[in-house]
Amino acid sequence: MLAYNRQFVSSEAYKEFHTSKYPDKKIAIVTCMDTRLVQLLPAALGIKNGDVKIIKNAGGTITNPFDSTIRSLLVAIYELGVNEVMIIGHTGCGVNGMDGAEMLHLMKERGIDDEHITLMKHCGIDLESWLHGFDDTEAAVLETVDLVKNHPLVPKDIIVRGYIMDSVTGELHTL
Ligand SMILES: [Zn+2]
Repeated sequence: MLAYNRQFVSSEAYKEFHTSKYPDKKIAIVTCMDTRLVQLLPAALGIKNGDVKIIKNAGGTITNPFDSTIRSLLVAIYELGVNEVMIIGHTGCGVNGMDGAEMLHLMKERGIDDEHITLMKHCGIDLESWLHGFDDTEAAVLETVDLVKNHPLVPKDIIVRGYIMDSVTGELHTL
């Protein structure tokens, strides 16, 4: 990738991507970090550089009203002119069915000290539910739509809608 980058810059391949920090479509998309969506999602929606803000995390949902995804949305709305938010889940998401207890087990296998995990639990941090995924992707997307719509710091005129993208065909289903 580093060698490719030197070639990319020296050949001025960047010129076709020139744009500003303000999203032309005034839309922010919250979606999953899944590898299948890296090119498929922008291609399937006709998104070009400069069109939208894309905020990604594992699962594409918001589980805490003050997490970094909400913070990014607030920046997009107040600083960058976004007036619509699309929450896009996808089929076959790895976070669907993810088990917090199982991940804690994997952490211990990789050398994370049991004492540290126990200490965090004693400090009141519910690691298992923090690491837990969702059991129903549609329901998780709709919960996130509800959370953004009713967030006390999100203005009421912001449009928020939920979707599921087919991870193979890119087809977008409106929820
Ligand atoms: Zn996913």
